[in-house]
Amino acid sequence: MKVILDPQGGICGGVERVIDIVEEELSLLNKDIYVLGDIIHNEREVERLNRAGLKTIDLKSLDGLVSSVFKNSTRILIRAHGEPPETYRELERLGVKVIDGTCPVVTRSQNLAERYSRGGYQVAIVGKHNHPEMIGIIGHTDHRAVVVQYDEDVRRLKPGVPTMVMAQTTISPEQFCKMTGKIEAWVGEVVIRETICKSVVKRSENLRQFAGLVDVLLMVGGHVSSNTRMLHNICLGRNPRSYHVSSPEELDPAWFSDAHLIGVSGSASTPLWLLQEFVDFLENWIKEGRIG
Ligand code: SF4
Repeated sequence: MKVILDPQGGICGGVERVIDIVEEELSLLNKDIYVLGDIIHNEREVERLNRAGLKTIDLKSLDGLVSSVFKNSTRILIRAHGEPPETYRELERLGVKVIDGTCPVVTRSQNLAERYSRGGYQVAIVGKHNHPEMIGIIGHTDHRAVVVQYDEDVRRLKPGVPTMVMAQTTISPEQFCKMTGKIEAWVGEVVIRETICKSVVKRSENLRQFAGLVDVLLMVGGHVSSNTRMLHNICLGRNPRSYHVSSPEELDPAWFSDAHLIGVSGSASTPLWLLQEFVDFLENWIKEGRIG
């Protein structure tokens, strides 16, 4: 029995960038940084960064924090998902130092939505209701954009008006294509801007191949991460012996009976150190004869 690490697995460029920013800021000034919402949808990485001095808060708790303890030197990080313009205005009002970690791919989506909305278009975004990235993008359209997640959402669009359809960066091309067809059937002709992140598309294609190569596949990622769930579904389509796990304690030796090759992969929010932890854990099980 052998364990292999997916060479394409692990954190995406946008999340890696924001983590680098945090680590650099923490090393420059030995004082906590506050981030609005979890920096990454991975409980283990959040815990690691919390220990290093990154504290997770929401916007509502910030007011008291600034006035009572930290005053203007409080550093607030905006995560890769981005924020709506009103968050920036609020942070400016509080006078805190903003560290903007919005992923450049997300910034492009925000700008695109804003441009079309200002140009008089109805903007439809195919993606998940209440996802932080969507909240940020909608804010850039003065809250006019319509989220299309379910079939019934399509009916919230006005038929016969100029419409632009775009995507949440982490949805699958198949989902975007399916929903765009439904929107066109209801609204009429639309402008389609496929704003899915290229690294997500490439990742999905490589993962299909990797899942087909191995007997058992572990998709490592946070249980609240929609990207991990989406990638796990792709794996299941190729290999029914695919499991979504977030920590080695969740592994069951029965999953690996008669397997020769175990593959370990991760989503856009899974750090490499965590994937390596799974590989080491399984190799230990093989050495101890628990599996294999
Ligand atoms: S998945 Fe793509 S859009 Fe999202 S943070 Fe990573 S690089 Fe940016």
